[in-house]
Amino acid sequence: MPFEKPKGSYTLSFEAAQLKKKKRLSPDDYKKQQKMVEALYETSGYLAVGTDIKVILSRIAKTLLKALGAKYVNFWDFTPNKEALFISAAAGMQKQYIAHSRKSPIRVGTMFIGRAVATGQPWASSDVTKDPNIKSNWLTPIKKQNYHGLLCLPMMGKKGAVGGMCVYYKDIHQFNYFEMALATIATNQAATAVANADLFHDLLGERNKTLATIQSLKDGLIMYDLDERVVVFNPRAQELLWLKEGEVLGKKINEPLSRKSVYLQNLFNIRNLVQSDFETKEYTTEGPQKVILEITYVPVRSQYRKIGAMQILRDITRDKEVELLKAKFLAVASHQLRTPLSAIKWALDTLRRSTLTAEQKQIVDRTFNSNENLIALVRDLLDVSRIEEGRLGYKFKQGDLSRLVSKIYEDVKIQASARQIDIIYEKPENPLPPAVFDAGKIDIAIRNVVDNAIKYVLPGGSIKINLRPSLNNKILTLSVKDNGIGIPENDQKFIFVKFFRALNALKHNTEGSGLGLYIAKKIAEKHNADLFFESVENQGSEFVFQFPLEAERMPKIAIADEEFKNA
Ligand code: ADP
Repeated sequence: MPFEKPKGSYTLSFEAAQLKKKKRLSPDDYKKQQKMVEALYETSGYLAVGTDIKVILSRIAKTLLKALGAKYVNFWDFTPNKEALFISAAAGMQKQYIAHSRKSPIRVGTMFIGRAVATGQPWASSDVTKDPNIKSNWLTPIKKQNYHGLLCLPMMGKKGAVGGMCVYYKDIHQFNYFEMALATIATNQAATAVANADLFHDLLGERNKTLATIQSLKDGLIMYDLDERVVVFNPRAQELLWLKEGEVLGKKINEPLSRKSVYLQNLFNIRNLVQSDFETKEYTTEGPQKVILEITYVPVRSQYRKIGAMQILRDITRDKEVELLKAKFLAVASHQLRTPLSAIKWALDTLRRSTLTAEQKQIVDRTFNSNENLIALVRDLLDVSRIEEGRLGYKFKQGDLSRLVSKIYEDVKIQASARQIDIIYEKPENPLPPAVFDAGKIDIAIRNVVDNAIKYVLPGGSIKINLRPSLNNKILTLSVKDNGIGIPENDQKFIFVKFFRALNALKHNTEGSGLGLYIAKKIAEKHNADLFFESVENQGSEFVFQFPLEAERMPKIAIADEEFKNA
């Protein structure tokens, strides 16, 4: 608020006028002004000190009281309904007057302070006891408080007045320019302090809300500051790690601390997991209670810089148990099914070769095919459970992939021609650089992809297999391209998910487990190879394997897991 001439009935003694008359300021006047500048300097300092608005306003009032030689200085705040004002902080005033203002607040628009706040302008009087603006019922309290000169100023915030300030003089008072300026600046400072305090309280409210959320989170949360000290350790984290907040809060989780207990050791190990931003890792706790945790690392940033880090702890013990149970069930069930299915296959095959009527032969053939599908499903299930339990032992050897692909091609050719599908294999023109692979596993992976192409191409369609080195012999690319039913765009992201089958595939071919590509992908991963595809629905698909040919990216030619274990 710029300095404005107040309204009301008062006399102003402007130094400017005195200067005009070339009258120089007396040493006394200089002293007074110096005192005021000092006061301003002091009051501005309060703003930086704290956020307790009552304390700041009381200090400003006190400094102003001294600098202005006033009897009272007070600040006014709105009642909750914003219709009246009461004294929120004061200097020089007896407590009873302050208390009285709470009981009988001054209505906005009345008296000096009410007018100042309503109009957004200062109001002053050299002698309130003679002022026509004062209601007669106020004269007694004014006399009791024993003051004459009064200046009230509104405290202006962004959205209008946020309160006001009044300066009271014992005697009839002529206001001078510096007094007005000082009071105005002090009021502006007070308005800033109020705005800051509001902002601070809003922030505090937000912080408390966030804290409450953190406290009630279903996941454990540990937050570290930049010095790696624990600053948040929520109740769920305490439960999961069997540690009390007091044991870790404010501490660096270092080696010496970790030696104190197995629980602190767990926290130390978690803290020392090597994790990039947003990466998730698993950790199984040591100690009497085994908990499998999924731990995600999240950097904490302010607008411009990193201010700490968080680790979010999710208990996945039950999920893991269920997963293990499922895998075990799959393994046992498929194992148990394999033997009778082979026996059935053998029996049906024998039956097929005996003399049968055409109708009987049709039934036996159909049963034979269904049994074959079941055998394939059981084989896939077994592979999946082996993959998931890490039991699919790999034996990596150096070899020529083109021979393996040729073999697969020869095998599926008959199957394809039975469905009137044209299948071609574009062999590499030159001998291939040797690749490292587990022939048995890669055979399964490639066959799954080629079988799919045959399965999802309509009769009369075509398939092209191409094997070639690329990227300066860094990569060996195997492509299986068909012009079949394709994969709908929305389904493409799920294609490698276990048991997933696209709707068009389901309609086109009811047989299928949704396991083939999952298995193929897992096998490719073990070879450090990529398996990806491009597809357009109703036009066709191309599945591509990319095997590494560079020594450092190729799988290690080593003794297989099982052999290693037995060694
Ligand atoms: P499935 O036993 O169903 O073939 P896969 O895991 O081998 O299981 O394949 C998963 C799904 O991917 C299939 O059900 C099908 O929707 C889609 N898919 C795979 N290969 C092709 C292909 N060549 N053309 C069209 N869809 C395919």
